[in-house]
Amino acid sequence: MTAVSEVVLPITFESLGLAAPILEAIKAAGYTEPTPVQARAVPEAIKGRDLLVSSQTGSGKTAAFMLPALQKLMVQHETPGRGPRILVLTPTRELAVQVTKAADTYGRNMRVKTLSVVGGMPYPLQNRMLKNGVDILVATPGRMLDQMNSGRIDLSRLQFLVLDEADRMLDMGFKDDLEAILAKVPKTRQTMLFSATIEPSIVRLASSFLHDPLRIAVDTAQTRHVNIEQRLHFADDMGHKNRLLESILGQPDMLQAIVFTSTKRHADQLAQDLHGKGHSAAAMHGDMHQGARNRTLQALRRGGLKVLVATDVAARGIDVQGISHVINYDLPMQAEDYVHRIGRTGRAGRNGIAISFASSRDSHLVRDIERLTTQKIEVSVIEGLEPKMRTFSKPATRNTRPGGGKSSYGKPGGGNSGAPGRREGFSGYAKRDGRPAARSPARTSPYPK
Ligand code: ADP
Ligand code: MG
Repeated sequence: MTAVSEVVLPITFESLGLAAPILEAIKAAGYTEPTPVQARAVPEAIKGRDLLVSSQTGSGKTAAFMLPALQKLMVQHETPGRGPRILVLTPTRELAVQVTKAADTYGRNMRVKTLSVVGGMPYPLQNRMLKNGVDILVATPGRMLDQMNSGRIDLSRLQFLVLDEADRMLDMGFKDDLEAILAKVPKTRQTMLFSATIEPSIVRLASSFLHDPLRIAVDTAQTRHVNIEQRLHFADDMGHKNRLLESILGQPDMLQAIVFTSTKRHADQLAQDLHGKGHSAAAMHGDMHQGARNRTLQALRRGGLKVLVATDVAARGIDVQGISHVINYDLPMQAEDYVHRIGRTGRAGRNGIAISFASSRDSHLVRDIERLTTQKIEVSVIEGLEPKMRTFSKPATRNTRPGGGKSSYGKPGGGNSGAPGRREGFSGYAKRDGRPAARSPARTSPYPK
């Protein structure tokens, strides 16, 4: 504990302006204090402001919008009707399901009707549920627009709109759908836009659809994932990658892992191979039916499944606290995806390990990632599995980086971010398991400062 954390008064949920039924539900969820993004966004949202929020994955953004949304529902709407008062748009079905669950969790002491409208769900059921009326609608843009166009969603009562993971929605090509939806929601509604990174495309979206937004940046992609140890293994070829993977999966600190591949086919194949080697492994990608995806996610959540082999889109937003490792079997083409991927571990303030395999051709990908995160990824070697390849940058000794990243690992509030108070806040809100990170035999950085 640093002196800073001792003098800073803790921010409580009670001080955020939330009604008693919501506070009770938060307590029942086991949350003792708001995360930084919640502490900053909730009171402003309750005041009625539009918000443009960037905060790292796993920082508790769902509650940051769901709590003020529920607070709105504490007051009855002036006009009766069946249309939603709250609309949350998310990039994927999995995320929509998680947001819906959060609404049920935080709204458990209120009479709130929540419905998710996502692709892959049979229309008749969806139509029936919409007819029954809904308070909180959680939707993916495509199906939402579909249902709007067929006149099944009355948006006249809409008061609160949330764009969750807006950067992902744009990346996934939902721009036109989003604009078509936003053009039809009442101008008087309040809007919250969430994005891991605030890029020009997000700023454009915000400036056309948000009214005088307050900008809240808590932890962006550019800040360190302090609780996630990042490592890079050079790999000669697929055989080498497979041996590295096998070794990592056998390490004692391995609880559950998500392994990322670049293609759906390879995800299937690798999952099968791992299964053949006796690991409880399964694949998850966009070609799978919703039912199978849900079952896989359930198994992961319950701990029955140890290794999930996934593609980027399928793994978006997965929130499973037992994930100790994220392994990039293939590096992502987009640096932003790296940030999203590693955010699948280190959930709710726990520690996590993110390991990337890099082939000799991946130097530009590594560089893009390091540029985006402004962090160097340390090179790691497993004894007996050293690469034969000439690594793409000349190795430096481990002392070359002043204030080197790993020195601050596991010591939140340390390091060199210049924001120790904020860091303390983030790390302090949830349980840490205190498990020391496994150290690899050799650690050097290939990047001279
Ligand atoms: P994000 O959307 O920022 O990636 P989530 O909203 O999915 O993050 O939250 C990540 C995890 O943290 C979830 O498991 C959630 O239940 C947990 N969480 C959220 N807020 C708190 C809190 N105040 N205290 C403890 N855990 C929390
Ligand atoms: Mg989220």
